[in-house]
Amino acid sequence: MPKQSIGLDNQLYNYLLSVSLREPEILGKLRQETANHPWSGMQISPEQGQFMSLLVQLIGARKTLEVGVFTGYSSLSVALALPTDGKIIACDVSEEFTAIARRYWQKAGVADKIDLRLAPALETLDQLLATGQAETYDFAFIDADKENYDVYYERSLQLVRPGGLIAIDNVLWSGQVADDQYQDESTQSIRALNKKLHHDERITLSLVPIADGLTLAIKRP
Ligand code: CA
Repeated sequence: MPKQSIGLDNQLYNYLLSVSLREPEILGKLRQETANHPWSGMQISPEQGQFMSLLVQLIGARKTLEVGVFTGYSSLSVALALPTDGKIIACDVSEEFTAIARRYWQKAGVADKIDLRLAPALETLDQLLATGQAETYDFAFIDADKENYDVYYERSLQLVRPGGLIAIDNVLWSGQVADDQYQDESTQSIRALNKKLHHDERITLSLVPIADGLTLAIKRP
């Protein structure tokens, strides 16, 4: 997956970064460390981290969800933008990847804001619903196994409050969603969700072509 915003050539992308990126040093270090990782493409781009940080500040988020942590760039971006009593329930299944994330949360002094749940995300989300937390979250970021995107979206929609925001990553999937040659399960799953959201009356929608495509959905009252 691309590490930079889709559709921008290198010259324009570098210009964008040069006039707008305000990446905290700790996030730059995490990005450097993750660059050597064989799965480094799973990390969100720095301008996307900054955009998400702006979004959580814009809506005054305190209580947030993340489905898919990897090495923690997105959760750290959000955690740094949350107020001191802000919280992230962070879902992932990889002890190995999240060990890197936890190290950086510690270094950045935001570890107490992040509650890591090492379990299949669906189990964690259902647990939150079962413990009466429906409509209590301000923000949810979905960036995990694409086959389950629809269920993550449906659970997140129950968990966010009216006016709360859901952000869904990789919705342009390197352009593969628009190319019929690609019929693998991940591509089909993203395609199906994009199509469903287009006419989903429960949300206000915008698909933003930042990074690999980020869908923004506000839960309607
Ligand atoms: Ca992603």
